Amino acid sequence: MSVMVPSRTPAQITPGRQALDSALYQLGQAAEHLGLDDGLHTMLATPRRSLTVSVPVRREDGRMDVVQGYRVQHNVSRGPAKGGIRFHPGTDIHEVTALAMWMTWKCALVGIPYGGAKGGVAVDPTALTTRELERLTRRYVNEILPMIGPEKDIPAPDVGTDEQTMAWIMDTYSVNAGYAVPGVVTGKPATLGGSLGRSGATSRGVQIAALSALGHAPDGVTVAVQGFGKVGALAAQYLADAGCRVVAVSDVSGAVHAPGGLDIADLRAWVAESGQVLGYRHADALGHDELFELDVDVLVPAALEGAITETNAPRVRARLVVEGANGPTTPEADEILAANGTVVVPDILANAGGVIVSYLEWVQNMQAYSWSEGEVGRRLHELMQSAYGEVKSLAAERALSLRQAAHVIGVGRVAEAHQMRGLYP
Ligand code: NAD
Repeated sequence: MSVMVPSRTPAQITPGRQALDSALYQLGQAAEHLGLDDGLHTMLATPRRSLTVSVPVRREDGRMDVVQGYRVQHNVSRGPAKGGIRFHPGTDIHEVTALAMWMTWKCALVGIPYGGAKGGVAVDPTALTTRELERLTRRYVNEILPMIGPEKDIPAPDVGTDEQTMAWIMDTYSVNAGYAVPGVVTGKPATLGGSLGRSGATSRGVQIAALSALGHAPDGVTVAVQGFGKVGALAAQYLADAGCRVVAVSDVSGAVHAPGGLDIADLRAWVAESGQVLGYRHADALGHDELFELDVDVLVPAALEGAITETNAPRVRARLVVEGANGPTTPEADEILAANGTVVVPDILANAGGVIVSYLEWVQNMQAYSWSEGEVGRRLHELMQSAYGEVKSLAAERALSLRQAAHVIGVGRVAEAHQMRGLYP
């Protein structure tokens, strides 16, 4: 095999590098299973285009800061590149490359005609004013402008970005084009052509994946959720709505725990007011690590990569892990969880609801048309359930984990597209 994951000194192992090593390891397993030749494997392990940009930002006090930004298109063999934009101080080119690669397999797995991309800016958005954020977003978009477009590469929200960020991106792109181009981003506000149901789509997909994997009525099933942002908060809400008892959630401030079950709507109202879960009156405070060790049925990591590692995996008691986040479980942790009988519904399947509804939004934009929320929800349900069924049967047929099966399907479809198209020139 020509793509090896090299050994690294501790100083070289940033969280982003770890995420990329995990992604390469998962690809390597799928490539081996599929019997891909070295050349094709190397091609799939290498991003098609990567751009690093310096983004100058004028601060409110007149100072100028310069931050690093990235956009990576991992693969465009099946259609335009698709993937979110992350604003987080820890992001780097390796993390963005890993996230772009996972997007490629995810889109192929759920059968939508996209390649994979991701963007990132190494900045803490909570440390900026709204006007600074707007200037930063517009300048970053201007720097990556040659790469993006409705037929080339379509960004969406990720960690630290939201509907407002997408509206600024759509505006910046449209002003440069000279006319409105709603299809350049997804996850926009509905008034700008955003899809009804997009803001809760990833979480709805997590709920569908969790309920499918449970395979029985969710009444009384206990759940812990790491990360209470766009994905985690609504995943907690939808699981509670379905009858689960969400007993603990966390965000960057810490974790809160109520063994009798949290009132998620009330907790979301508290977070909207205070900005954090910690301090919520109707629950006890809990350490970050303790959340992973709770005796719950389902654990939903919905924050960042590398949350479940070889260190804490032996103490995970949940029978089911449903990955709302991208890359939350390291390959070493995967093995420990499997040995302990814990089933993991992998990121590229469990959190695919977001890109599915993004695709529906883009189709609507390209046709200047709009579907009802019910129609969007029905199509999301159908695509999620069909992808889950395919992964589950392949895993059973070939004695693979759900992650291995999902990668075999996703990587296999992209490899097939390359083989059918041939190599130019
Ligand atoms: P977000 O910025 O809205 O929320 C992130 C949450 O994680 C916040 O509550 C933050 O406080 C929390 N967090 C950060 N570090 C933490 C830690 N160490 N412990 C506990 N909580 C921590 O981001 P999001 O859009 O909800 O994305 C979360 C994850 O889901 C990411 O991995 C992202 O790539 C993935 N994802 C997002 C979407 C989407 O549509 N937004 C789609 C697919 C996958």
